[in-house]
Amino acid sequence: MRSNTIDADIPICSTTLPNHSGHFGKYGGRYVPETLFAALSNLTITYEKIKNDRGFWSELQADFESFIGRPTPIYHAKRWSAMLGGAQIYLKREDLNHTGAHKINNSLGQIHLARKLGKTRIIAETGAGQHGVATATVAARFGLECVIYMGAADVERQHINVERMQILGAKVIPVTSGTQTLKDALNEAMRDWVTNIDNTYYVIGSVAGPHPYPMLVRDFQAVIGRESRQQMLKQHSKLPDVVIACVGGGSNAIGMFTEFIPDESVRLIAVEAGGFGDEIGEHAATLSKGVPGVLHGSKTYILQDQHGQVSETHSISAGLDYPAVGPELSWLKDSGRIETHIVGDIEATKAFFNCSRIEGIIPALESSHALAYAEKLAKTMRSDQKILVNLSGRGDKDMHLVSHHSSEYLSETNS
Ligand SMILES: *Cc1c(COP(=O)(O)O)cnc(C)c1O
Repeated sequence: MRSNTIDADIPICSTTLPNHSGHFGKYGGRYVPETLFAALSNLTITYEKIKNDRGFWSELQADFESFIGRPTPIYHAKRWSAMLGGAQIYLKREDLNHTGAHKINNSLGQIHLARKLGKTRIIAETGAGQHGVATATVAARFGLECVIYMGAADVERQHINVERMQILGAKVIPVTSGTQTLKDALNEAMRDWVTNIDNTYYVIGSVAGPHPYPMLVRDFQAVIGRESRQQMLKQHSKLPDVVIACVGGGSNAIGMFTEFIPDESVRLIAVEAGGFGDEIGEHAATLSKGVPGVLHGSKTYILQDQHGQVSETHSISAGLDYPAVGPELSWLKDSGRIETHIVGDIEATKAFFNCSRIEGIIPALESSHALAYAEKLAKTMRSDQKILVNLSGRGDKDMHLVSHHSSEYLSETNS
């Protein structure tokens, strides 16, 4: 086991990947047009320098503490564990971060980087609006111009988040191309970036995209696992037996897993969205059911139809509704270091209500996928064993999606 000492000011990631060309094994890389290639190379070179700059990390750490409320606690879900009659479940409370999820760890890290690069204009893509809100929040805190690209269909569906971004001073641009959703917003943000590269920094929202983004976003999210590992050792003098996280693009999962990768005794479990069925278009289980391909500049597992077209996806949780996944997770899956499992809409919704009623914590529907798998697994384990679940966000944003299931749930638990 590695030591429990807190390393100076520079958070050293426990992995040496990606390699020089941005690859995690055969995954990752930089599949982009010439015009973007130069911008990405510059960003990589600058970040490699900043990575060893103690001042950068200590300024970021100060903001993690004072602006977003880190470190987030680990909470023992005692009543729930006792009711399941198996392993003890612990929750890493990323829901307690400012703006309500892990996403702001990354927005804050990348905007600190943008400031080092002297950029004055921030752009981002957003799906349901969570990454857009986190980025608009940090841009406001630094007085930077902020433009958020959002699919027109999502603008309709997620109006409250659009208003939040506008209140924070961001300009929200509805994207009307393609399916008018996340992947179209991402393409549009890339286009803006190429045109305005001199003054603009593009804050990508997950560990997807071309090199160096999967590395950057991982490094900023790795604070989750770094804190968790220290907290578990401090509180229990022992590592957890299992660590579980949900996977959309993969940023909260890789953020949680990275520090635990060298700890061979710790099982790492990625939970994907099973939606309402196994057929193409009914789920978003990319690692479990996808095949290697290229999307958004990166080689990774992708969900495709029989013609090789990127397939439609479905999940009750918008944050998991993405047809690709971060390349490092693809590599970790092939290498056997992580296990992957699928949880569907209904199981996730049940876990959502259980966590709310039994523990007094309303979880995001995304996180509820990880919770549902933890419930299942806990029952098969001993009561002296420990499961750590990343509670990636809070569920206030999901009220409208679950309220009509409330009566079903009540009749089930009361019978
Ligand atoms: C966006 C989001 C996710 C999924 O994104 P990852 O990059 O896979 O972490 C998970 N949970 C919450 C609360 C989210 O907002």
